[in-house]
Amino acid sequence: MNPKPTITIIAPVYNEEPVLPELYRRISAIMDATGESWELLLVDDGSRDRSAEIIANLHAQDGRVKGISFSRNFGFQEAVTAGLDYALGDAVVLTDADLQDPPEVIPQMIAKWREGYDVVYGVRESREGETWFKLVTAKLFYRIIHRITSVNIPLDTGDFRLMDRRVVDALCQMRERNRFLRGMVPWVGYRQTGVHFKRAPRFAGEAKYSSFRRMFKFAMNAITSFSYLPLQLATYLGFTIAAISALAIVVVILLRIFSPHELTGQATTLVAVLFLGGVQLISLGIIGEYLGRIYDEVKGRPLYLIDRMWGITPRK
Ligand code: UDP
Ligand code: MG
Repeated sequence: MNPKPTITIIAPVYNEEPVLPELYRRISAIMDATGESWELLLVDDGSRDRSAEIIANLHAQDGRVKGISFSRNFGFQEAVTAGLDYALGDAVVLTDADLQDPPEVIPQMIAKWREGYDVVYGVRESREGETWFKLVTAKLFYRIIHRITSVNIPLDTGDFRLMDRRVVDALCQMRERNRFLRGMVPWVGYRQTGVHFKRAPRFAGEAKYSSFRRMFKFAMNAITSFSYLPLQLATYLGFTIAAISALAIVVVILLRIFSPHELTGQATTLVAVLFLGGVQLISLGIIGEYLGRIYDEVKGRPLYLIDRMWGITPRK
Protein backbone atom coordinates (compact mmCIF):
# COMPACT_ATOMS: atom_id res chain seq x y z
CA MET A 1 0.00 0.00 0.00
CA ASN A 2 1.44 3.34 -1.04
CA PRO A 3 1.60 6.10 1.57
CA LYS A 4 -0.87 8.91 1.02
CA PRO A 5 0.42 11.12 -1.82
CA THR A 6 0.82 14.87 -1.36
CA ILE A 7 -0.25 15.76 -4.88
CA THR A 8 -2.99 14.16 -6.97
CA ILE A 9 -3.05 14.90 -10.68
CA ILE A 10 -6.43 14.27 -12.29
CA ALA A 11 -6.79 13.88 -16.04
CA PRO A 12 -10.15 13.09 -17.67
CA VAL A 13 -9.73 10.69 -20.57
CA TYR A 14 -12.06 10.28 -23.52
CA ASN A 15 -10.59 8.36 -26.45
CA GLU A 16 -7.04 9.49 -25.68
CA GLU A 17 -5.27 6.24 -26.58
CA PRO A 18 -2.38 7.87 -28.49
CA VAL A 19 -1.67 10.39 -25.74
CA LEU A 20 -1.71 8.39 -22.52
CA PRO A 21 1.82 6.88 -22.55
CA GLU A 22 3.30 10.31 -23.31
CA LEU A 23 1.13 11.93 -20.62
CA TYR A 24 2.45 9.44 -18.06
CA ARG A 25 6.05 9.96 -19.22
CA ARG A 26 5.87 13.78 -18.99
CA ILE A 27 3.96 13.88 -15.70
CA SER A 28 6.16 11.31 -13.95
CA ALA A 29 9.39 13.02 -15.08
CA ILE A 30 8.22 16.42 -13.84
CA MET A 31 6.64 15.21 -10.61
CA ASP A 32 9.66 13.10 -9.69
CA ALA A 33 11.83 16.19 -10.14
CA THR A 34 9.71 18.13 -7.64
CA GLY A 35 10.45 15.57 -4.91
CA GLU A 36 6.78 15.50 -3.84
CA SER A 37 4.92 12.22 -3.49
CA TRP A 38 2.21 12.06 -6.14
CA GLU A 39 -0.48 10.00 -7.83
CA LEU A 40 -1.88 10.31 -11.35
CA LEU A 41 -5.61 9.64 -11.43
CA LEU A 42 -6.89 8.91 -14.92
CA VAL A 43 -10.68 8.97 -15.28
CA ASP A 44 -11.79 7.13 -18.38
CA ASP A 45 -15.05 8.76 -19.43
CA GLY A 46 -16.43 5.76 -21.32
CA SER A 47 -13.80 5.80 -24.06
CA ARG A 48 -14.51 3.68 -27.10
CA ASP A 49 -10.86 3.08 -27.94
CA ARG A 50 -8.28 1.16 -25.87
CA SER A 51 -7.79 3.96 -23.30
CA ALA A 52 -9.05 1.80 -20.39
CA GLU A 53 -6.66 -0.99 -21.29
CA ILE A 54 -3.75 1.44 -21.42
CA ILE A 55 -4.69 2.85 -18.02
CA ALA A 56 -4.74 -0.71 -16.62
CA ASN A 57 -1.27 -1.34 -18.09
CA LEU A 58 0.13 1.92 -16.74
CA HIS A 59 -1.25 1.03 -13.30
CA ALA A 60 0.40 -2.41 -13.47
CA GLN A 61 3.71 -0.73 -14.40
CA ASP A 62 3.57 2.02 -11.77
CA GLY A 63 1.22 1.85 -8.78
CA ARG A 64 1.12 5.65 -8.60
CA VAL A 65 -1.07 5.62 -11.70
CA LYS A 66 -4.67 5.00 -10.69
CA GLY A 67 -7.75 4.68 -12.81
CA ILE A 68 -11.50 4.90 -12.84
CA SER A 69 -13.57 3.79 -15.80
CA PHE A 70 -17.17 4.99 -16.27
CA SER A 71 -20.03 2.79 -17.46
CA ARG A 72 -20.48 5.16 -20.43
CA ASN A 73 -19.53 8.64 -21.59
CA PHE A 74 -20.82 11.05 -18.93
CA GLY A 75 -18.86 14.15 -19.94
CA PHE A 76 -15.84 16.16 -18.91
CA GLN A 77 -17.38 17.79 -15.82
CA GLU A 78 -18.52 14.42 -14.43
CA ALA A 79 -15.12 12.82 -15.12
CA VAL A 80 -13.36 15.58 -13.19
CA THR A 81 -15.91 15.26 -10.38
CA ALA A 82 -15.17 11.54 -10.02
CA GLY A 83 -11.46 12.39 -9.93
CA LEU A 84 -12.03 14.91 -7.14
CA ASP A 85 -14.16 12.38 -5.23
CA TYR A 86 -11.38 9.79 -5.19
CA ALA A 87 -8.25 11.97 -5.06
CA LEU A 88 -6.12 11.39 -1.95
CA GLY A 89 -3.67 14.30 -2.20
CA ASP A 90 -3.39 17.36 0.02
CA ALA A 91 -3.47 19.30 -3.23
CA VAL A 92 -5.12 18.32 -6.49
CA VAL A 93 -4.12 19.41 -9.99
CA LEU A 94 -6.65 19.22 -12.82
CA THR A 95 -5.19 18.86 -16.27
CA ASP A 96 -6.42 17.78 -19.72
CA ALA A 97 -5.10 14.42 -20.85
CA ASP A 98 -4.08 15.73 -24.28
CA LEU A 99 -1.06 17.69 -22.95
CA GLN A 100 -2.55 21.04 -23.95
CA ASP A 101 -1.91 22.07 -20.37
CA PRO A 102 1.89 21.76 -20.14
CA PRO A 103 2.89 19.67 -17.07
CA GLU A 104 5.94 21.95 -16.76
CA VAL A 105 3.64 24.53 -15.13
CA ILE A 106 2.69 22.18 -12.26
CA PRO A 107 5.86 22.85 -10.18
CA GLN A 108 5.08 26.62 -10.34
CA MET A 109 1.57 25.87 -9.09
CA ILE A 110 2.94 23.76 -6.25
CA ALA A 111 5.31 26.59 -5.29
CA LYS A 112 2.37 29.03 -5.07
CA TRP A 113 0.43 26.48 -3.02
CA ARG A 114 3.38 26.19 -0.62
CA GLU A 115 3.28 29.99 -0.31
CA GLY A 116 -0.23 29.57 1.11
CA TYR A 117 -2.62 29.91 -1.83
CA ASP A 118 -5.59 27.55 -1.93
CA VAL A 119 -6.30 27.75 -5.65
CA VAL A 120 -3.69 28.36 -8.34
CA TYR A 121 -5.33 28.55 -11.75
CA GLY A 122 -3.57 28.54 -15.08
CA VAL A 123 -4.09 31.72 -17.10
CA ARG A 124 -3.79 31.15 -20.84
CA GLU A 125 -1.42 33.58 -22.44
CA SER A 126 -1.65 32.16 -25.92
CA ARG A 127 -3.31 29.24 -27.54
CA GLU A 128 -1.55 27.39 -30.29
CA GLY A 129 -3.20 25.12 -32.81
CA GLU A 130 -6.76 26.31 -32.24
CA THR A 131 -9.16 27.53 -34.92
CA TRP A 132 -9.90 31.27 -35.06
CA PHE A 133 -13.56 30.42 -34.47
CA LYS A 134 -12.70 28.81 -31.13
CA LEU A 135 -10.41 31.71 -30.18
CA VAL A 136 -13.03 34.38 -30.91
CA THR A 137 -15.94 32.54 -29.26
CA ALA A 138 -13.83 31.68 -26.21
CA LYS A 139 -12.79 35.31 -25.76
CA LEU A 140 -16.36 36.54 -26.15
CA PHE A 141 -17.67 33.85 -23.81
CA TYR A 142 -15.34 34.79 -20.96
CA ARG A 143 -16.17 38.49 -21.33
CA ILE A 144 -19.95 37.84 -21.29
CA ILE A 145 -19.74 35.47 -18.30
CA HIS A 146 -17.64 38.03 -16.47
CA ARG A 147 -20.32 40.66 -17.02
CA ILE A 148 -23.48 38.79 -16.16
CA THR A 149 -22.53 36.45 -13.34
CA SER A 150 -22.10 37.30 -9.69
CA VAL A 151 -19.08 35.04 -9.13
CA ASN A 152 -15.79 36.42 -10.24
CA ILE A 153 -14.63 33.97 -12.88
CA PRO A 154 -11.06 34.95 -13.85
CA LEU A 155 -10.61 35.81 -17.55
CA ASP A 156 -8.99 33.30 -19.92
CA THR A 157 -8.66 30.46 -17.45
CA GLY A 158 -9.52 26.88 -18.25
CA ASP A 159 -9.78 23.95 -15.91
CA PHE A 160 -6.01 23.60 -15.52
CA ARG A 161 -5.52 24.47 -11.84
CA LEU A 162 -4.22 23.34 -8.48
CA MET A 163 -6.61 23.19 -5.52
CA ASP A 164 -5.96 22.70 -1.85
CA ARG A 165 -7.68 19.85 0.01
CA ARG A 166 -10.20 22.19 1.65
CA VAL A 167 -11.30 23.52 -1.75
CA VAL A 168 -11.62 19.95 -3.05
CA ASP A 169 -13.70 18.95 -0.03
CA ALA A 170 -15.98 21.93 -0.64
CA LEU A 171 -16.38 20.99 -4.31
CA CYS A 172 -17.19 17.40 -3.34
CA GLN A 173 -20.15 18.73 -1.35
CA MET A 174 -21.50 20.58 -4.39
CA ARG A 175 -23.42 17.83 -6.17
CA GLU A 176 -25.23 20.06 -8.64
CA ARG A 177 -26.01 18.75 -12.11
CA ASN A 178 -25.13 20.52 -15.37
CA ARG A 179 -21.89 21.41 -13.67
CA PHE A 180 -19.65 24.34 -14.52
CA LEU A 181 -16.47 23.81 -12.56
CA ARG A 182 -14.78 26.99 -13.75
CA GLY A 183 -17.46 28.92 -11.89
CA MET A 184 -17.76 26.60 -8.91
CA VAL A 185 -14.10 26.99 -7.91
CA PRO A 186 -14.17 30.81 -7.63
CA TRP A 187 -17.50 30.47 -5.80
CA VAL A 188 -15.72 28.45 -3.08
CA GLY A 189 -13.43 31.38 -2.33
CA TYR A 190 -10.28 31.20 -0.14
CA ARG A 191 -7.02 32.59 -1.45
CA GLN A 192 -6.86 32.26 -5.22
CA THR A 193 -4.12 33.28 -7.63
CA GLY A 194 -2.99 32.57 -11.18
CA VAL A 195 0.12 31.55 -13.05
CA HIS A 196 0.52 32.35 -16.75
CA PHE A 197 1.21 29.68 -19.31
CA LYS A 198 1.11 29.10 -23.04
CA ARG A 199 -1.51 26.58 -24.06
CA ALA A 200 0.07 23.99 -26.32
CA PRO A 201 -1.55 22.28 -29.30
CA ARG A 202 -3.06 18.86 -28.56
CA PHE A 203 -0.34 16.17 -28.53
CA ALA A 204 -2.29 13.66 -30.64
CA GLY A 205 -5.85 12.63 -31.43
CA GLU A 206 -8.64 15.15 -31.91
CA ALA A 207 -10.54 17.65 -29.79
CA LYS A 208 -14.06 16.68 -28.71
CA TYR A 209 -15.30 20.10 -27.74
CA SER A 210 -14.94 21.89 -31.04
CA SER A 211 -18.47 21.17 -32.22
CA PHE A 212 -20.68 24.22 -31.97
CA ARG A 213 -23.40 22.23 -30.19
CA ARG A 214 -21.10 21.18 -27.36
CA MET A 215 -19.72 24.67 -26.89
CA PHE A 216 -23.25 26.11 -26.87
CA LYS A 217 -24.34 23.62 -24.19
CA PHE A 218 -21.24 24.49 -22.16
CA ALA A 219 -22.04 28.21 -22.37
CA MET A 220 -25.69 27.66 -21.44
CA ASN A 221 -24.66 25.66 -18.36
CA ALA A 222 -22.23 28.37 -17.36
CA ILE A 223 -24.83 31.12 -17.64
CA THR A 224 -27.75 29.30 -16.03
CA SER A 225 -25.59 27.98 -13.19
CA PHE A 226 -24.44 31.40 -12.11
CA SER A 227 -26.91 34.00 -13.34
CA TYR A 228 -30.63 34.79 -13.29
CA LEU A 229 -30.15 37.56 -15.81
CA PRO A 230 -31.91 35.70 -18.67
CA LEU A 231 -34.99 35.28 -16.45
CA GLN A 232 -34.88 38.92 -15.40
CA LEU A 233 -34.52 39.92 -19.05
CA ALA A 234 -38.07 38.66 -19.66
CA THR A 235 -39.31 40.84 -16.80
CA TYR A 236 -37.51 43.96 -18.08
CA LEU A 237 -38.70 43.32 -21.62
CA GLY A 238 -42.25 42.79 -20.32
CA PHE A 239 -42.29 46.13 -18.51
CA THR A 240 -40.79 47.94 -21.50
CA ILE A 241 -43.30 46.49 -23.95
CA ALA A 242 -46.20 47.12 -21.54
CA ALA A 243 -45.14 50.77 -21.24
CA ILE A 244 -44.91 51.16 -25.01
CA SER A 245 -48.29 49.45 -25.42
CA ALA A 246 -49.94 51.83 -22.97
CA LEU A 247 -48.79 54.75 -25.13
CA ALA A 248 -49.64 52.97 -28.35
CA ILE A 249 -53.19 52.22 -27.19
CA VAL A 250 -53.86 55.91 -26.58
CA VAL A 251 -52.37 56.84 -29.95
CA VAL A 252 -54.43 54.21 -31.75
CA ILE A 253 -57.69 55.33 -30.11
CA LEU A 254 -56.98 58.99 -30.88
CA LEU A 255 -56.15 58.17 -34.48
CA ARG A 256 -59.34 56.11 -34.78
CA ILE A 257 -61.48 59.01 -33.53
CA PHE A 258 -59.80 62.05 -35.09
CA SER A 259 -57.85 60.87 -38.12
CA PRO A 260 -59.60 61.03 -41.46
CA HIS A 261 -57.75 57.92 -42.73
CA GLU A 262 -58.16 55.40 -39.98
CA LEU A 263 -55.44 52.77 -39.33
CA THR A 264 -55.44 50.10 -41.98
CA GLY A 265 -56.14 46.83 -40.17
CA GLN A 266 -54.23 43.71 -41.28
CA ALA A 267 -50.64 44.97 -41.39
CA THR A 268 -50.61 46.75 -38.03
CA THR A 269 -52.31 43.86 -36.27
CA LEU A 270 -49.99 41.30 -37.83
CA VAL A 271 -46.86 43.21 -36.87
CA ALA A 272 -47.96 43.48 -33.25
CA VAL A 273 -49.11 39.86 -32.98
CA LEU A 274 -45.98 38.40 -34.59
CA PHE A 275 -43.64 40.52 -32.52
CA LEU A 276 -45.34 39.69 -29.24
CA GLY A 277 -45.59 36.01 -30.20
CA GLY A 278 -41.84 35.89 -30.73
CA VAL A 279 -41.05 37.65 -27.48
CA GLN A 280 -43.37 35.34 -25.56
CA LEU A 281 -41.86 32.20 -27.06
CA ILE A 282 -38.35 33.35 -26.24
CA SER A 283 -39.38 34.09 -22.64
CA LEU A 284 -41.03 30.68 -22.37
CA GLY A 285 -37.89 29.07 -23.73
CA ILE A 286 -35.74 30.82 -21.13
CA ILE A 287 -38.04 29.59 -18.37
CA GLY A 288 -37.84 26.14 -19.95
CA GLU A 289 -34.04 26.15 -19.75
CA TYR A 290 -34.15 26.75 -16.01
CA LEU A 291 -37.11 24.42 -15.49
CA GLY A 292 -35.31 21.55 -17.23
CA ARG A 293 -32.31 22.07 -14.99
CA ILE A 294 -34.51 22.06 -11.90
CA TYR A 295 -36.04 18.79 -13.18
CA ASP A 296 -32.53 17.31 -13.50
CA GLU A 297 -31.78 18.30 -9.92
CA VAL A 298 -35.03 16.88 -8.57
CA LYS A 299 -34.43 13.48 -10.14
CA GLY A 300 -31.34 13.28 -7.96
CA ARG A 301 -29.55 10.69 -10.08
CA PRO A 302 -25.89 9.92 -9.40
CA LEU A 303 -23.54 12.16 -11.38
CA TYR A 304 -21.69 9.16 -12.85
CA LEU A 305 -21.52 5.37 -12.65
CA ILE A 306 -18.24 3.50 -12.30
CA ASP A 307 -17.50 0.31 -14.19
CA ARG A 308 -13.93 -0.54 -13.15
CA MET A 309 -11.25 0.93 -10.87
CA TRP A 310 -7.49 0.45 -10.67
CA GLY A 311 -5.64 1.17 -7.41
CA ILE A 312 -8.49 3.22 -5.94
CA THR A 313 -9.25 3.10 -2.24
CA PRO A 314 -13.04 3.35 -1.80
CA ARG A 315 -14.09 6.54 -0.06
CA LYS A 316 -14.41 6.86 3.69
N1 UDP B 1 -13.03 14.67 -22.23
C1 UDP B 1 -13.79 13.86 -21.38
N2 UDP B 1 -15.09 13.56 -21.72
C2 UDP B 1 -15.66 14.05 -22.86
C3 UDP B 1 -14.90 14.91 -23.70
C4 UDP B 1 -13.59 15.19 -23.34
O1 UDP B 1 -13.30 13.39 -20.35
O2 UDP B 1 -16.83 13.74 -23.11
C5 UDP B 1 -11.63 14.98 -21.86
C6 UDP B 1 -10.61 14.77 -22.95
O3 UDP B 1 -10.13 13.44 -22.97
C7 UDP B 1 -9.53 15.76 -22.57
C8 UDP B 1 -10.31 16.90 -21.94
O4 UDP B 1 -11.56 16.35 -21.57
O5 UDP B 1 -8.63 15.23 -21.61
C9 UDP B 1 -10.47 18.08 -22.87
O6 UDP B 1 -11.05 17.65 -24.07
P1 UDP B 1 -10.61 18.22 -25.49
O7 UDP B 1 -9.13 18.24 -25.62
O8 UDP B 1 -11.36 17.44 -26.51
O9 UDP B 1 -11.21 19.68 -25.41
P2 UDP B 1 -10.50 21.09 -25.74
O10 UDP B 1 -9.04 20.98 -25.42
O11 UDP B 1 -10.75 21.31 -27.17
O12 UDP B 1 -11.21 22.05 -24.85
MG1 MG C 1 -7.71 19.60 -25.68
